[in-house]
Amino acid sequence: MDGNFDFDVVVVGGGPAGYPAAIRAAQHGLRAACIDNWKNRDGSNAFGGTCLNAGCIPSKALLESSELWHRAQHEFALHGIGTGALTLDLAAMQKRRATIVKGQTRGVAALLKGAGVTGIFGAGKLLAGRVVEVSAPDGKVSQLRARHVVLASGSTPTELKSLPFDGRQILDSWGALELDAVPKRLCVIGAGVIGLELGSVWSRLGAEVVMLEALDSLLPMADAQLAAEAGKHFRKLGLDIRLGAKVSGATAGADGVTVRYGDAQGAKSLVADRVVVAIGRRPFTQGLLGEGCGVRLDERGFISVDEHCGTGVENVWAVGDVVRGPMLAHKGKEEGIAVADRIAGRYAHVNYALVPSVIYTAPEIAWAGQTEAQVQAANIDYKIGVFPFMASGRARAMESTAGFVKLVVARASDEILGAHIIGPMAGELIAEAVLAMEFRGSAEDLQRTIHAHPTLSEALHEAALAADKRSIDNLNR
Ligand code: NAD
Repeated sequence: MDGNFDFDVVVVGGGPAGYPAAIRAAQHGLRAACIDNWKNRDGSNAFGGTCLNAGCIPSKALLESSELWHRAQHEFALHGIGTGALTLDLAAMQKRRATIVKGQTRGVAALLKGAGVTGIFGAGKLLAGRVVEVSAPDGKVSQLRARHVVLASGSTPTELKSLPFDGRQILDSWGALELDAVPKRLCVIGAGVIGLELGSVWSRLGAEVVMLEALDSLLPMADAQLAAEAGKHFRKLGLDIRLGAKVSGATAGADGVTVRYGDAQGAKSLVADRVVVAIGRRPFTQGLLGEGCGVRLDERGFISVDEHCGTGVENVWAVGDVVRGPMLAHKGKEEGIAVADRIAGRYAHVNYALVPSVIYTAPEIAWAGQTEAQVQAANIDYKIGVFPFMASGRARAMESTAGFVKLVVARASDEILGAHIIGPMAGELIAEAVLAMEFRGSAEDLQRTIHAHPTLSEALHEAALAADKRSIDNLNR
């Protein structure tokens, strides 16, 4: 290695975009360091970023627990299981969540070490000439000279000016995951991915949940049929979703927070014990870019990058939530890996057209590729194949018959253009559709692929058959 550099690759940020970049760089035989400044509420440092510490993993832990609680209340009797009086020990539930998080974040530290990556706790700042200044938790400041720098500093919750987070009554998504009591009245602002997941958790655990969504439609980025089905199930669960509701302000008091909002009918207000603000996230670049480093931000505050995640400054790259594109851990991971491969002189490609989206509610929601509306807008002649989980033997045995699989298929070529799933394990099932689309597979390819019986994946098989009106297991073929 060139003696002028301390490392071949210095990655700033140890979340799901940054740590894979460092590991892949090390796998290429490069000397890599990964710097992270994440601080937990107890003051401890951890790798893993928002995803592992305060997002994907803890939310999935609570979604699982609250789903079990819900099923125990509403489904066990159907299976002939009597439990006596059910009790909810939220402290135990939260302890389990915290234990899972700790295991996962320690796992990342072990993965870095195992790959030979130097893990460093501290705040990284890019200076001119690819020098990274590191401010350690003990206040010591040092400098690392890097041949390549990968910026992966992630994102942070967006605050509503009229409702600043106070960590007690007005919470961000992290605070909403760590509540130590079930709020009686919970107001969630924003019915996006986070709002729906957290709203589901606390609704299932007994909170009265009102969701205020500024837009007039629910999940506008999803296929309209999927979004409509989702809305039906969320309302059945008890989520009071109010669309077209624009929040204008709030007053926190001893009896709760009064949230003022307006909709088509005029000015309204509600009182809640806790308010969760889930109106999106913004790129996190505070303290990251030193004077003269040359890296530019776009008008929305994201680090400007080209299609290869290059920042325009020689050998400085940026990946994950801090750059354009969906703020999804798996998108960041692919970018991180691709950048490390490029640094090593290898070919790399991220297929942004096929980043799957998953909402981990019950029923689960997942999609990839184009919606029916997008295909229509592109003037593509298409056919649709739908299979309802109600017609799936496995789904019936699981008592999970809500939802369907919908495939959007080009009529002329038979190529699968989009897959839209709402139902049990949708987030797992979407992988098969993504793989098929990666290979530019056709409905016939899926039709001819043998799916084990009885499995949920047969719903994909049947949806592919339905695209040609040849479904076997659905009367409505
Ligand atoms: P989001 O963009 O998914 O949803 C935010 C919602 O808030 C939107 O529907 C928006 O219309 C609404 N909104 C904005 N301002 C509002 C206002 N003033 N009043 C009422 N509603 C308002 O953002 P999110 O749910 O906060 O999630 C942030 C990011 O994290 C997203 O990019 C999301 O994809 C990602 N994330 C993904 C997952 C997952 O993949 N399962 C889970 C959590 C978060």
